[in-house]
Amino acid sequence: MSFHSMWAELLPVGRSSASGGYRRFAWTDADADCRAWFEDQARARGLAHEVDRNGNQWAWLGDPAARDAVVTGSHLDSVPDGGAFDGPLGVVSAFAALDELRGRDARLTRPLAIVNFGDEEGARFGLACVGSRLTAGQLTRAQAHLLTDGEGVTLPRAMEAAGYDPDAIGPDPERLARIGAFVELHVEQGRALDLSGDRVGLASAIWPHGRWRFDFRGEANHAGTTRLADRHDPMLSYAETVLAARREAELAGAVATFGKVAVEPNGVNAVPSLVRGWLDSRAEDQTRLDTVVGGIEKAARSHADAHGIDLDVVRESFTPVVEFDHALRDELARILGTDTDLTVPVLGTGAGHDAGILSGSIPTAMLFVRNPTGVSHSPAESASEDDCVAGVLALADVLEGLACR
Ligand SMILES: [Zn+2]
Repeated sequence: MSFHSMWAELLPVGRSSASGGYRRFAWTDADADCRAWFEDQARARGLAHEVDRNGNQWAWLGDPAARDAVVTGSHLDSVPDGGAFDGPLGVVSAFAALDELRGRDARLTRPLAIVNFGDEEGARFGLACVGSRLTAGQLTRAQAHLLTDGEGVTLPRAMEAAGYDPDAIGPDPERLARIGAFVELHVEQGRALDLSGDRVGLASAIWPHGRWRFDFRGEANHAGTTRLADRHDPMLSYAETVLAARREAELAGAVATFGKVAVEPNGVNAVPSLVRGWLDSRAEDQTRLDTVVGGIEKAARSHADAHGIDLDVVRESFTPVVEFDHALRDELARILGTDTDLTVPVLGTGAGHDAGILSGSIPTAMLFVRNPTGVSHSPAESASEDDCVAGVLALADVLEGLACR
């Protein structure tokens, strides 16, 4: 089955007719349809299909017990109203690359597997990469059992309803020990390749990133009768802080976003008593990130102090930089560099991936495919068919180079 027909088959699954975006949330019917599609693709190619204890799907060519396997794949779930490419491009390309290798009569000397990691986006339970985190032991069964969706359904109940055993979840070191290399192909979630004019790139690192909560406390009061001079309006300090975030990020070549805000009492005719804003910031390295967040906090404090506003800043989550395995990355660059038509720029990325989670346990690498607008997590996410095919061929070259040596 060609890339094109696989893509067309998967395209309508979980797509909202209202938004044109995808709602393939973990352990829902749309997710089950994606998983059934994966199993069909595996069986159609004579691959051994299995689901591991954490609900990740695997399609094996060769004996998994032989160890040193080369694994590729990604995820099939989506964010709310996500695009078609984030995740599925890596899975469809994996099957297409295997077909390409068979067409080349490549003789594999290592086992090869294609994987679909469960619940990568965290759209339903609020934590990203649950399938790979559990496997790598970065999330315990007890922690996972506490995850709850917006309707109050816990992760174990959702897994059970989808036909999986939530008591089996947990670290899977035996499975990781079988894997010699994991290569995830992914649509680029930025414009670096578009700007450099390349179809395919290699990942260098995932930027360190974190989330901080800023609580600005002032004094609720009447919007009509309170003189401006008498107000303690936390919205003003918040507004200054949003502008400072943009300034500091620009100075450091980083990103900083206030994308979520809560206001109390949230009345149109009331000076607020509390404005709570959440900052997401990411930068190429720790020092830059510290500079950006430090600069934003300093600006927030100076405005708050001058206007009688109390400020608390709490770091709610943090993920340090993920450096992909240098030896594997160099090997991929060498493999891809032998094709003179293909230059492979090496890019950092601000987005998290299963490959980032697994990089703490096994050698991992990532290939990015050009996204002309850079838009991701939106129905506008795109990649041309020619670029997708270039991605498949690059992945096939990589798998051949790694598994046939
Ligand atoms: Zn993804």
